[in-house]
Amino acid sequence: MLHGKDMFMKDTSLLKLKNVSKFYYSKGVVASGFTKVSLEFNLGEFVVITGESGSGKSTLLNVLSGLDSYEEGEMYINGEETSHYSEEDFENYRKTYIGNIFQSFNLVGSYTVYQNIELVLLLNGYKKRNIKTKIIELIKKVDLYKYRNTRVSKLSGGQKQRVAIARALAKETPIIIADEPTGNLDLKSAKSVIKLLSEIAKDKLVIIVTHNYEQVEEYATRKIEMHDGKVREDIDLKEYTSKEPELREYKNISFFNKVRIGVRNTFNIVPKFLLTFVVFLFVIIAFLTEYSGFRQAEYEEKKGGYNNYFQNASDERIVLQKEDKSVITNEDFKKIQRIDNVDYVVRDDVILDTDYLVENDDYSFYGNIDSLTRINKVDKGRMPQNKNEIVIKGYSHDYYLDSQAEEVFNTSFNLNTIYGQIINSDLKVVGIIYDDSYHMHTFYFDQDIIDEVRENANEQNSQLTVTINGNKYVVNMYESHLRISPNEKIAQGEALIAYDINYLCKYSWCGNSTIKVDVKNIYYSESKEFKVTGMYTKYNFYNLTGQSYQEYDTKIYISEKDYHDFFDKESYQSSVFVKNVKKIDDVDSELQKLGFKTLIIRDTLTNEYAEILKVINIFKIIITTILFVVMFFIAYFVIRLIQKSKNVYYSTVRILGGSKNVIRDFISIELLTDFNMAYLVTLLLVFLDHAGIIHNSFIHDITSYLTLKDFIVIYLILTIMSYFISLRYARKLFKSSAMKTYNEEV
Ligand code: ADP
Ligand code: MG
Repeated sequence: MLHGKDMFMKDTSLLKLKNVSKFYYSKGVVASGFTKVSLEFNLGEFVVITGESGSGKSTLLNVLSGLDSYEEGEMYINGEETSHYSEEDFENYRKTYIGNIFQSFNLVGSYTVYQNIELVLLLNGYKKRNIKTKIIELIKKVDLYKYRNTRVSKLSGGQKQRVAIARALAKETPIIIADEPTGNLDLKSAKSVIKLLSEIAKDKLVIIVTHNYEQVEEYATRKIEMHDGKVREDIDLKEYTSKEPELREYKNISFFNKVRIGVRNTFNIVPKFLLTFVVFLFVIIAFLTEYSGFRQAEYEEKKGGYNNYFQNASDERIVLQKEDKSVITNEDFKKIQRIDNVDYVVRDDVILDTDYLVENDDYSFYGNIDSLTRINKVDKGRMPQNKNEIVIKGYSHDYYLDSQAEEVFNTSFNLNTIYGQIINSDLKVVGIIYDDSYHMHTFYFDQDIIDEVRENANEQNSQLTVTINGNKYVVNMYESHLRISPNEKIAQGEALIAYDINYLCKYSWCGNSTIKVDVKNIYYSESKEFKVTGMYTKYNFYNLTGQSYQEYDTKIYISEKDYHDFFDKESYQSSVFVKNVKKIDDVDSELQKLGFKTLIIRDTLTNEYAEILKVINIFKIIITTILFVVMFFIAYFVIRLIQKSKNVYYSTVRILGGSKNVIRDFISIELLTDFNMAYLVTLLLVFLDHAGIIHNSFIHDITSYLTLKDFIVIYLILTIMSYFISLRYARKLFKSSAMKTYNEEV
């Protein structure tokens, strides 16, 4: 900053004001801080400024310190004119030249004595490891060694001001500016503070404002009296030796030290940390709840049967029919088996798409049947060894398949249709497979039982019409009324009916009349006539049918042969399962070459499901955005309230040489640290829940649908949100100048 020619100019002073004026504009009214002040200051001087309150002393010191701007006149720093100075230039000036001491100390109350002095050094680019001895020396110099690790808020006024002096000295600037440093002190403390100031004054320029001139008289080399914004009197009292200032270059705070201080500030004031922590916890939980809601909706959507027709939604499945809907012959099956990549063929695949219940008095599982040949190992239990042993596949969070597995293994089950018909009553579940990608249960059965079920599946998928006495009745599957059922005691072509349906016939008597049964489905239709040869009541039901009293129902019993004729049909629709899903299209085109109409199940599902997903995703994005904005503002306002107590801190940091960017980074680091703590605690709770150490249904509900990926996404979203909160907060904070913010807060 020293220019060549100035070096040789004798009258170049350290600080020089020439006709400088400072005005305040507020609400359209112009007030004057001071007007047309011309003053020069040199190294070695101990300048005392007095004057009544409101005469412009503080304003003058703030302009000299570069804390406030001036409107008129010229100010020279070491010979250099400053009208062209930018905010950054003044920041550098303050770094290099000025150490401030204030009436109200401007210390960080929650920091220790040591940390207060450390702060100013770190802010001015010192390395942490280089400053320890320097700080301790300074603390000793102001006689506070005993209190080096005490929080400043616990010290007396005199002790505080001594910390402030040590802090002003730490930076080794040529100028110390003190605005009423003894204003808040008792007489004794005031004396020791002034003495201390005089001792450090020797090779510096000290400018001090006081109401109590007698206290400083002894040391002052010059006295200036202000009155009504003007210099009324300026007298030299003593000789002093002037010399060239030694200027040090100050750097900016390093990134590492920013993090250090940011983290320190996070935990510094415990209630503030906890409040912010709770806000973040609230935001995180709100987000997790919302997010898992979406995941659950997605899951429910899947579960809701997006494809009602094909219940078995395996990726490997191709459904096929002959082009002309004719029977698929053994010859055809041989050809299909020979196609490369074909795993196996389900001849009557209707069974795959019909729902069944595996149930007993205590448990009930709902799902589809598949062949045991499809699996070779289970997650719990063992593989079946007998015909009546089965495996169930289901969702891993399913209470019955998880915690209750042992009980499930130890009871026997019925296989029932969803219309309540019992198909088999002696099943044992011996193995469980977990699969969260599938929405229902799958029952793996031995081929013999599958054959039993096959006819029933055909029956379920057919329409039955019964004609009695010339009247047609369409049989409703949900009520057993008029349904046909095979019975070994009935002869071919004959029917055994319930006494209760006699009213349907002429003269309410069906004996010897003829009943016609039509079976129709998408592949075939079949008609038969039966002669009514018997009627049963509750009393002779067992005798006539051989079936137990519990199964008594209003049905039409026919011979097993006739029933088989209706439903034990050759195959009209089959399914092929491939080994390698990636090559499913090749199999598909081979099948078409053989004259089959085909349908790859995966394609029907993805297309349909993709549409739903698209809608869900758009909805999700909108809701998440709204939630994000709402959360942002709630969190912002609460955090601003909590952080408000720290505004004094931030203006102090600025006065000590921290730029806006530095403070913004402090705030960001602080909030992000607090947020990360809250997220860590959340993850810990989730982990404890997963590990089964804690049992909280709320946490369990939130997290059961979320994956690790979800947690990472939420983390990123919330990190960005926390960062934006800190940016917004910092921006608002800097709307006014450091001094203004400080004065407003104190
Ligand atoms: P002193 O420190 O000598 O008591 P100040 O320098 O604080 O006096 O104030 C000088 C004049 O400037 C006073 O008239 C005061 O009202 C005015 N002033 C000081 N600060 C402001 C401000 N921020 N806005 C408006 N006027 C101000
Ligand atoms: Mg003042």
